[in-house]
Amino acid sequence: MSRLLYQGVEGVPDISESLLSSMKISHPERAQRAEGPALSETDPKLREECGVVAIHGHPDAARQAYLGLYALQHRGQESAGIATADGLHLANIKGMGLVSEIFTDDVLAKLPGQMAIGHTRYSTTGDSALLNAQPIRVDSTKGLIAIAHNGNLVNLGNLRSRLERDGAYFQTTSDSEIIVQLIAHSHANSLVDCIADSLSQVDGAFSIVMMTRDRIFAARDPRGFRPLSMGRIKNPDGPDTIVFASETCAFDLLRATYERDVLPGELVMVTEDGVTSRQYASGIPQSSCIFEHVYFARPDSRIFGRWVQESRDEMGRQLARESGVPADVVVPVPDSGVTAALGYAEEAGIPFRFGLIRNHYVGRTFIEPEQRVRDFGVRLKLNPVRNLLEGKRVILIDDSIIRGTTSRKIVRMVRGAGAKEVHLRISCPPTISPCFYGVDTPRKRDLIAANKSVEEIRRFIEADSLSYLSLDGLLKCCDGGEHNGYCTACYTGNYPTQWVDVEDILPAEVSL
Ligand code: SF4
Repeated sequence: MSRLLYQGVEGVPDISESLLSSMKISHPERAQRAEGPALSETDPKLREECGVVAIHGHPDAARQAYLGLYALQHRGQESAGIATADGLHLANIKGMGLVSEIFTDDVLAKLPGQMAIGHTRYSTTGDSALLNAQPIRVDSTKGLIAIAHNGNLVNLGNLRSRLERDGAYFQTTSDSEIIVQLIAHSHANSLVDCIADSLSQVDGAFSIVMMTRDRIFAARDPRGFRPLSMGRIKNPDGPDTIVFASETCAFDLLRATYERDVLPGELVMVTEDGVTSRQYASGIPQSSCIFEHVYFARPDSRIFGRWVQESRDEMGRQLARESGVPADVVVPVPDSGVTAALGYAEEAGIPFRFGLIRNHYVGRTFIEPEQRVRDFGVRLKLNPVRNLLEGKRVILIDDSIIRGTTSRKIVRMVRGAGAKEVHLRISCPPTISPCFYGVDTPRKRDLIAANKSVEEIRRFIEADSLSYLSLDGLLKCCDGGEHNGYCTACYTGNYPTQWVDVEDILPAEVSL
């Protein structure tokens, strides 16, 4: 049974206060990240930090939010939460674990109301993670507000100290609470003005859903880093249900129709009277995260105006055009390399085969820090299909090389299964710089491509050849969506915001 945190739930003691007093919030997450590697050897993928969902005008809003979060589980598996409101009360339940582990029928029954927001999150573990799980519910001078946030603010240090000087008391170390405190301290006239005022003061990446006792808000940062879409469920007997989600795959499970994306710099408000919207910021060049198309988002989602499946298929095709090599079989590193590998195989006219099988039932309990377990990490997750690989020249398709150690294990595994040649192709450019906008990346000194040439990496991973997709090629594959720019900072080091953590971008030579 997951440990849960209840706030404002009828018949259940509100345990947030006792938790608050027993928890030491002494290490902001950023500091924790700086102390050790963010990614374990057993789970070396870059990780998204959140998915959000909001529901307005549904008799069982909590269950709808649950379904939405279920579809967004790939965006974060460490904690999840749902807050609901019925016009009078605003209840919130969150816990550590998967959405389906936390929200049983009994738990959902404690969340009445026609409105809901939900959040699923990848985070560090421990008590502070439960406290920082979202939605965050704050009883502010503007009334009860619940907020759920996908992304990362980059000017939070300055804002936090200014707010603390003004008397703000923070319950968590989360970026999202800064937004609520800014709302509470705003002198603007109406709540919606206060929210617009607060959003215009924060810099960085945020796709936000927010709820008061009787309203839902959804907003995206002015650069549109993270996706956020709006959909509608037609109700023949009453007003439509309005839904928001990080990705449109959530709409399919809710049987909602995609209506449009929330625009960069837009604040949307949904009340009983309908949907209204305003631009709280404009004129800032868009920089949507291109890595959403490469890896994070599900292929069955449409983000930034494009189908992810189409982008990935095109990345594979472009990779084949840029760095084709004679081979007998194209093999994806599952699951994320599959769509690009299909595109590559079709373009190159080489058979596609599932030569590596992923074990989907590896529990999180295996992700332990002991070296003994670490060495088994890749083998626990992947197993080669010997009869497909033996004696073959194999093209392996993956979406990134972070430290290089996992890629080397996979190359060794394929060769150990009898492959004659192993050629690794990566469906994006080399990752040379960390992300500050909501993706958990190691520091620059730990990124292999920041410290070695492609040839040196090839030798390290023991492949017969190694090629990455070019930046121009990647941009071409993701073109034609919102017709605006992409953030490519992890491939170029050119950050679209001023505020970055200098410590995180020091190259290896300086740190040694
Ligand atoms: S730095 Fe990379 S992962 Fe981060 S927002 Fe930019 S493109 Fe996305």
